[in-house]
Amino acid sequence: MSRRWIQNPNRCADEYLDGIEDFIEFARRHNPGATRIRCPCRRCNNTLFESIETVGFHLVRNGMIETYSIWNLHGEQVDHASSSNAPRVDNVEPIVDPNDQVMGIIQDAFPFASTNINQEGEDDVPTPIDSAEFEQYEKLLKNANQELYPGCESFSILTAIVELMHGKIKYRMSNLCFDYFLGVFKRMLPTDNCLPKDHKHAQKVLHGLGLGYEKIHTCKNNCMLFYKEHETLDTCPICNESRFKMTSQNRTTKIPQKVMRYLPLKPRLQRLYMSMHTATDMRWHKEKRVDDDVMRHPADGETWKEFDRTFPEFAADPRNVRLGLATDGFNPYGVLNQHHSTWPIFAFPYNLPPWKCMKKEYMMMTVLITEDPGRSIDVYLRPLVDELKDLWTNGVRTYDKSTGRMFTLRAAVMWTVNDFPAYAMVSGWSTKGYMACHVCKEDITSGWHAGKVCYLGHRRWLPWDHEWREKDKEFDGNTERRLRPREWSGDEILEQLNLLDFAPFGKTVSRTRPSTHLNWTHKPMFFELPYWSKLKLRHNLDVMHVEKNVFDTLVGTMLDIEGKTKDTIKARLDLERMGIRRGLWMNRDSDKARRDLAFFSMKPNDKKEFLKFVSSVKFSDGYASNIARCVNVDGGKFTGLKSHDCHVFMQRLLPVGIRHLLPEDVVKPIMLLSIFFSQLTAKTLRRTDMFQLRHDIVQVLCKFEMIFPPAFFTSMIHVMVHLPEEALLAGPVNYRWMYPIESFSES
Ligand SMILES: [Zn+2]
Ligand SMILES: [Zn+2]
Ligand SMILES: [Zn+2]
Repeated sequence: MSRRWIQNPNRCADEYLDGIEDFIEFARRHNPGATRIRCPCRRCNNTLFESIETVGFHLVRNGMIETYSIWNLHGEQVDHASSSNAPRVDNVEPIVDPNDQVMGIIQDAFPFASTNINQEGEDDVPTPIDSAEFEQYEKLLKNANQELYPGCESFSILTAIVELMHGKIKYRMSNLCFDYFLGVFKRMLPTDNCLPKDHKHAQKVLHGLGLGYEKIHTCKNNCMLFYKEHETLDTCPICNESRFKMTSQNRTTKIPQKVMRYLPLKPRLQRLYMSMHTATDMRWHKEKRVDDDVMRHPADGETWKEFDRTFPEFAADPRNVRLGLATDGFNPYGVLNQHHSTWPIFAFPYNLPPWKCMKKEYMMMTVLITEDPGRSIDVYLRPLVDELKDLWTNGVRTYDKSTGRMFTLRAAVMWTVNDFPAYAMVSGWSTKGYMACHVCKEDITSGWHAGKVCYLGHRRWLPWDHEWREKDKEFDGNTERRLRPREWSGDEILEQLNLLDFAPFGKTVSRTRPSTHLNWTHKPMFFELPYWSKLKLRHNLDVMHVEKNVFDTLVGTMLDIEGKTKDTIKARLDLERMGIRRGLWMNRDSDKARRDLAFFSMKPNDKKEFLKFVSSVKFSDGYASNIARCVNVDGGKFTGLKSHDCHVFMQRLLPVGIRHLLPEDVVKPIMLLSIFFSQLTAKTLRRTDMFQLRHDIVQVLCKFEMIFPPAFFTSMIHVMVHLPEEALLAGPVNYRWMYPIESFSES
């Protein structure tokens, strides 16, 4: 088999992805029972051990070491005697992470091997369910019970395999050697024994460990999947594009134009219950959680509680899984080639206690798309939504190690976590244009300022008799009498969506949207989930991205950084047009109109002092080191600040740094904003504090409206007004922002 794909620079090419698949298959075959193998990606460089799943993921993102064409560290034997053209024999040493307690893991994965199912399982006989998953279980159960040969009392097939495999791994036995002994044992045993004849057949029995995925062919133009009822088609019914590549006639296998990968959830959810500790921890949210004013976990939020009230039969069994879903677009080419990106969709169980929840071990990749799917993300969600529907309606029979019994595991998605662009894709509401806010929808206050749509009107959240509502020139020139935008329930949204017709998905379909559709681009497929419209918060605003964007806008304007500041000449002309804030109008004293530095921006010397301060601060925990590197004192700007730097900057540097450098009236709301983010992003939240924040953020935004020109108010500045409410609904933000997802993607 050619391994030229390793050198292919296009890591989204089918050749490359198929190659990775071959490698994973090879590694799995040659390292039976190993849960962690050396990762040959360019970052880990065969020195770090990762789960097989993570390795596959690394290889897509980081690429395989270009020179690693003989997989000797994964069990391939370098045979100097035979010529390199000779077919390689499967005679290899399995490589196992020395820290891996193989036996424990195999036993965790095969609870039947050590439990006597016959006696205990009987009184909780699984009711037959029409699903392949159950058949798999039944197969395992049957195997576990079957005696190795008639009359054998000490071994079942599975216990025999598990014990032999353990020895194979422990003593690094090659497959050839293993097959030899297996053959000998088989001849020693009574003739009607059921011992597998070789390693391959033993592996087959162990298939339940599988981390396999399905490849699904997709239309090149993102119209549809060749899946289920379309599985046998050769052309896309929407755009007529061929499913397969045009190949020369003598080829026997057809090459699909585009492929997505789907990793089924069920076996992995079942696996959570195969380990004693995890199985117990999955009930934490019900059995160990404390109910008081402090929110420590998503289960403390109103959405979860309301869900329990609406679906008591689901809530009755704490083992039913509550999932979060996250999408994250990352780019395996770095910043140079923005056109190729990979879109993984992750699922993570929220049942677990805070110290386990959102940890890498529990992140499950479910969908892998190799191109920005745009609005067509729903096309690719099809298999996931189908599986989720089944997990809600039928569930899947699952063995619970902590009780030793089978039960029907069901699962529900609590919400999705996305950055703002992906938010539009999964929610179906465009986050661009005059109605960019999905919460305010068509009732948002927006207008055209300085060449952009801006979002103002935050006085609408003030008490109706608040004095600021009567002011005009201080704000946008008008008094404010309107109440805050109304809230929409999921059912109301569904009703609205049901009245609209949407064009099919795909690149070939025209994208113009009739005005009746407001900002709706499509009806999200998630609404097919029976519970979706009952959820109080279906999509989370990612606080990480909001904070970064707010930081960039605020600091760019405060430091008057060219290209970053919202206080441009256009913004000043806009103020003139509106007839407000005369002090900020263009200075026309001389022949040429001039933009004088605004009162809310630092004078050049103060700016230098501020930047010097920032670059000199040292935190005991090393946070600042990166921030200091990003400061360009002479150039008067920052370069390369990451989301987390902005997070630290906003909360720890800004309030100290700007004092005495800007007028008191400007400093005060910025300080309040800094406290807002630090309280909002705390690991535990007091409900009473969140009520206070809900009030404070309106104060901040209204004060900003009196300070900054309308051009300052991007959609990201506006959505801050909704963040405390989302925290009350869903609990601490560290369970529903992108940091853990991104660090998982990047690790
Ligand atoms: Zn790696
Ligand atoms: Zn098509
Ligand atoms: Zn809004």
